[in-house]
Amino acid sequence: MFQTSYIELSESAVKNNIDFINNYLGENVTFSSVVKGNAYGHSIEHYCPLAHKCGVRHFSVFSAQEALDVTKALSNHEFTLMIMGQIDNEELAWAIENGVEFYVFEQDRLDFAIMTSKKLAKKALIHIDLETGMNRTGIAQKDIASTFKKIETKLDYIEVKGVCTHFAGAENIANYKRIKEQFNRFKRYQLKLNTYPWLEAKKHLASSSATIRYPHTQMDLVRIGILQFGFFPTQEIFVYYSTKFKTNINPLKRILSWKTKVMDTKMVKAGEFVGYGTSYLTNQTTRIALLPIGYSFGFSRSLSNHGKVLINGARFDVIGTVNMSMLAVDISLDETIKKGDEVVLIGNQGEQELSVSSFSDFSQLINYELLTRLPQDIPRIVTK
Ligand SMILES: *Cc1c(COP(=O)(O)O)cnc(C)c1O
Repeated sequence: MFQTSYIELSESAVKNNIDFINNYLGENVTFSSVVKGNAYGHSIEHYCPLAHKCGVRHFSVFSAQEALDVTKALSNHEFTLMIMGQIDNEELAWAIENGVEFYVFEQDRLDFAIMTSKKLAKKALIHIDLETGMNRTGIAQKDIASTFKKIETKLDYIEVKGVCTHFAGAENIANYKRIKEQFNRFKRYQLKLNTYPWLEAKKHLASSSATIRYPHTQMDLVRIGILQFGFFPTQEIFVYYSTKFKTNINPLKRILSWKTKVMDTKMVKAGEFVGYGTSYLTNQTTRIALLPIGYSFGFSRSLSNHGKVLINGARFDVIGTVNMSMLAVDISLDETIKKGDEVVLIGNQGEQELSVSSFSDFSQLINYELLTRLPQDIPRIVTK
């Protein structure tokens, strides 16, 4: 294996999380599995077939490139695919030909979709993204009526599969008022849109946080990313969940473990600096292990002198600075550790666990960022 570390994906954890999500959803709510950012670092190639096996038939991505990755990962499978963000006008032909749905939030893309559909003699399947207060993508209030009027005259070329928007931070109660206003605005728009008899679109706006925290916003479809990978978006959402259901047990299971091996061990005398510069000085004779992992592999440099790893079922401290490709760990407490021993960077070993969230507390990265920083070329291995 020409790699310095590997990532294991637990198939039973995928099933656990997808079952949890399906149980949480109202009747007739479609679960769209959001797999942007290489399936939050889990890899589209490996995660999508696992999710499909558990019954997921709707996937969402950010870009046409990611959509292409999903179609490759799921070739010969039945599923619906939705692009929520970037697709170039030149890529629209590919999407339309392959029945890939995509967001429309500006007129140029709409016009090109109509033109391309005419050329290909195949309808473009679109979701109209409405601006409700996040001030990111979305058609502004003043343009909504004219946009739908335009579509009404082009129904030979356009099928509106969805009408949607996105909350500006439902994972945080501090945003409560803004979220509520967004939802109310979206509902008001729905009332107007109900006057178009041809419009049979799915309404959707909830992501993981809103699905849990504001279940009434689930509407026809939810776009869920982080939950399916075994994480509550924030501690706050978990506290909400555990209070509501009077349980302290986390119903989700982390899918991903990240592992490497000890590359070398050595003794360092007392009073010596370890690694670059002077950030770590030994107080006594110290036994260290060198690991072939550094910041270029997604192990943040901010974990210098802070990170932890598991070896032989115990926790050990990262000492000195995290280098580009290497780091050192103080293993003085276990003289049996040797070259080739398994090291867990994220996951379980024996009774011990290093969770992504404790990891990201140290590195000040939120779960989302830490996961998606895991490089694409670290091999992923599916386990039971
Ligand atoms: C990423 C994303 C989601 C999923 O968010 P989670 O918090 O991971 O569930 C939903 N909708 C849109 C538009 C997104 O970009």
